[in-house]
Amino acid sequence: MGYVTLMIDDQKVTVADNLTVLQAAEKLGIEIPALCYDPELEIVSSCRLCIVDIKGNPKLQTSCSTPVSEGMVVYTESEKVIKMRKTILQLLLDNHPNDCLTCQKAGECLLQKYAYRYDVKFREHSGERRKEIIDTSSPYILRDGSKCILCGKCVRTCAEVSDRQVLSFAERGFDTRIVADADFSLEESKCVSCNRCVAVCPTGALIDRRASFKGRVWELDAKDVKCKSCDYGCDFEVIKRDKKSVGVRAKKPGEGRPLCLKGRLTTELLYNDNIDKPYKKQDGRFIETSWNDALELTDIIEKIDLFERKKV
Ligand code: SF4
Ligand code: SF4
Ligand code: SF4
Repeated sequence: MGYVTLMIDDQKVTVADNLTVLQAAEKLGIEIPALCYDPELEIVSSCRLCIVDIKGNPKLQTSCSTPVSEGMVVYTESEKVIKMRKTILQLLLDNHPNDCLTCQKAGECLLQKYAYRYDVKFREHSGERRKEIIDTSSPYILRDGSKCILCGKCVRTCAEVSDRQVLSFAERGFDTRIVADADFSLEESKCVSCNRCVAVCPTGALIDRRASFKGRVWELDAKDVKCKSCDYGCDFEVIKRDKKSVGVRAKKPGEGRPLCLKGRLTTELLYNDNIDKPYKKQDGRFIETSWNDALELTDIIEKIDLFERKKV
């Protein structure tokens, strides 16, 4: 691996030659807006919000997929870039419910953040908007298709675990949407409620139901904790309000681990001061269950006994 030196917004930076322009900008503390980019996921460059102006290149380039090169001169906020970003954001808002006042995601929604940053507003128009397809079948996830911007992060993160791959794109053009299995509700689908899709969704299209409606983002504090269910320790955050723990949210899978419901429920039990009942899926239906059952502790003595006997 070698190094290259380039200029970004008139600042010189030397970085490893396998980085992208977006990653090099991060080293300078420059945040290039992006909705579909996630450093942990395959790069698809579909939202195109991360476009930048590269000297000598007549077309704007997506910074998430453009590798750095020696002597490159990049402008992340040129007039041309800002004009294009505004157009992209306006198109997204034109097809989005004007719901920020009550949306659970407000305050941490990337669409809202960038619309504010580039002064793009909801506007009246007679064109169609995305249909409201709300899935309330899961006690763990609230799915609101009208707020989906089709960034595909949920599809990519779910597909990272080979036996899950629950989510996919369906239909075409204006009707394109995200579906679970063959357009099932989350309850009917083979979704295991790991919530890794919720953790990466940039908007209010996927919401953690158990950690919701506990307060607005600015009234809450979050503390990072590691799951103690197995050795790998996936990342969760404990949500606090007035020093009381009011919820636990999945944040990131641990190295080589997928994130799982059992881990989240164990973390809830450990940290949450006001815990909700657990649910499990049985024959395609969510049913309320006991904590012993949810954490697979039923008959634990017999299970340990069997395990020990197998070893000898
Ligand atoms: S998802 Fe974001 S932009 Fe949409 S209503 Fe909620 S906060 Fe507003
Ligand atoms: S909760 Fe997990 S299994 Fe279910 S759709 Fe999301 S990522 Fe896939
Ligand atoms: S549900 Fe969220 S993560 Fe999935 S495509 Fe829509 S906006 Fe992106």
